[in-house]
Amino acid sequence: MGKTAKKRAGQSTRRAEPPISVVTGGAGFLGSHLVDYLLSKGHKVIAIDNLVTGTVENIAHLAGHERFRFIKQDVTEYLYLHEPVDYVWHFASPASPVDYLELPIQTLKVGSLGTHKALGLAKAKGARFLLASTSEIYGDPLVHPQTEEYWGNVNPVGLRGCYDESKRFAEAMTMAYHREHGVETRIVRIFNTYGPRMRMNDGRVVPAFISQALQGRPLTVFGRGTQTRSFCYCSDLIEGIYRLMMSEHAEPVNIGNPHEITVLEFAREILRLTGSRSRIVYKPLPADDPRQRQPDITRARRWLGWEPRVSLSEGLEKTISYFRGKV
Ligand code: NAD
Ligand code: UDP
Repeated sequence: MGKTAKKRAGQSTRRAEPPISVVTGGAGFLGSHLVDYLLSKGHKVIAIDNLVTGTVENIAHLAGHERFRFIKQDVTEYLYLHEPVDYVWHFASPASPVDYLELPIQTLKVGSLGTHKALGLAKAKGARFLLASTSEIYGDPLVHPQTEEYWGNVNPVGLRGCYDESKRFAEAMTMAYHREHGVETRIVRIFNTYGPRMRMNDGRVVPAFISQALQGRPLTVFGRGTQTRSFCYCSDLIEGIYRLMMSEHAEPVNIGNPHEITVLEFAREILRLTGSRSRIVYKPLPADDPRQRQPDITRARRWLGWEPRVSLSEGLEKTISYFRGKV
């Protein structure tokens, strides 16, 4: 038996219903949407979060839910749970460039020590583990669109290195637990995802442009706005991630929307959809800002039968109406 096939006794046997899921980062933007989705699928869910960039507002609607529990804890510290666990979804990590530039050491710690603890929990419980990795592991990519085979072009000592390298380490640690301990692992490489519950001031381009447009402030395009991104709506992403966890694939899988757009075109789209008369102003491009980003989702299509369904304008309409209630 090869190392990748090494299994611990009972590992592949799921327990009886309801399945029990642990979501680290469960009070964050994506983590809280995942919690909702898992509850809708009948899971019992334990969310663990230290609220460094997340908020209890994202899970306030679940107070009193009989299958939901929240634990406020830093996942870089030892995780003890008395109950059995079937699935560990490791989402804890600052994710916005503004956040991780403010918290570089915490970002490196949650990607390394936090991933180690979350994998240790999965191993101890015989649970399946999924790592929320990122398109940032491709850095400023020289291959376009990005396939999972591409190893990336990351500046380890640049400002974004704290995030990119913590996620690259997390992927390596995940594969080591898979190969050495036989833990069933999954790795999703998430491309820019947006939707309700993003923090208005988290600095990412979607909340930044929408709040600027709704408040009549200028939209701050960095550089000349020629850099590209491909934006995925949160419900599409969560469904792809759920399918990946339930699949048999330990290799990384890109989940994102291949619809690619320049940042300047994106700013114009936000102005159109909000009906705002805000101006566009140009600000310096941050260091190491990737020039292009688009997922190749061939694997997700083939392995998971998944592709995004929500168009950019439809997803943005929903996100804008959420932000209208916040400004
Ligand atoms: P977010 O900041 O809203 O959520 C992250 C959550 O993790 C927050 O609730 C935060 O409080 C929590 N957290 C951070 N460090 C922690 C620690 N040490 N212990 C416990 N909790 C901790 O960001 P998000 O956009 O929801 O991102 C969630 C995950 O998805 C992250 O791992 C991120 O790297 C990944 N991801 C997101 C995107 C995206 O476009 N949203 C893209 C790629 C990858
Ligand atoms: N960006 C911008 N104006 C802003 C915020 C971001 O032009 O107010 C740009 C940023 O330089 C990057 C893109 O939008 O090229 C996406 O940035 P974001 O922070 O959302 O995520 P990234 O993909 O860089 O991790």
